[in-house]
Amino acid sequence: EEVSMYRIELESLKVKGKDCPKPVKAWSQCGLSSKVMDVIKKNGYEKPTPIQAQAIPAIMSGKDVIGIAKTGSGKTLAFLLPLFRHVLDQPEIGPEDGPISLIFAPTRELAIQIYNECRKFCKPLKLRTVCVYGGSGVSEQIADLKRGAEIVVCTPGRMIDVLAANSGRVTNLRRLTYLVLDEADRMFDMGFEPQVMKIINNTRPDRQTVMFSATFPRQMEALARKILTQPIEVQVGGRS
Ligand code: ADP
Ligand code: MG
Repeated sequence: EEVSMYRIELESLKVKGKDCPKPVKAWSQCGLSSKVMDVIKKNGYEKPTPIQAQAIPAIMSGKDVIGIAKTGSGKTLAFLLPLFRHVLDQPEIGPEDGPISLIFAPTRELAIQIYNECRKFCKPLKLRTVCVYGGSGVSEQIADLKRGAEIVVCTPGRMIDVLAANSGRVTNLRRLTYLVLDEADRMFDMGFEPQVMKIINNTRPDRQTVMFSATFPRQMEALARKILTQPIEVQVGGRS
């Protein structure tokens, strides 16, 4: 039945790192606001998937997290749901402030997918999100950023361009305290590490950083060490 199936799924879960909170069994244990819970219910997400069950409480504890689970396992919500709590816990951004949260994706398609998932929650939460990606007009993205957004989803190349545009007056990373690197293995394969590092090197050292990936090859460990501080590693299935 339901519960025992869930236990079997969780058996393949490996966690490394100090003081990792226990996995949750239900959304009600995640510490989510009622508005977030409403969107979850409306979308028919019955209970957290295994990667969500472990990564959400780990991220909510404020620690840096590496989440590894195969494609289709629900990694997007694993970093978005703690993101909303983080953002809502911060003082509101002023007219001169850049985003509180930045999400890196390796391709425009993936960035748009994350952005669309994010938008479902942003309306009821009264948060603003902007998607910054290459291959389409930069001026509209710049205008959106200037209007202010708590959450920015981006591809690294275009983000570098908009950060440099207008003598650096489009947006800034001073308020950035929640950073996500999604599909880190693909980001690495596609050679985006230098661009990602260029941006990350201009962010606050006290930020929380989470990294999600379908695989975690050995060569990615150096990157992980550079951007994460004493991370908890959550892995569902084999590391591959
Ligand atoms: P990944 O990033 O791991 O490839 P996604 O975050 O894109 O996976 O999620 C894959 C699909 O699963 C999406 O269609 C998403 O809406 C759905 N999904 C995510 N979390 C849940 C959940 N808890 N229950 C049911 N479906 C979910
Ligand atoms: Mg994904």
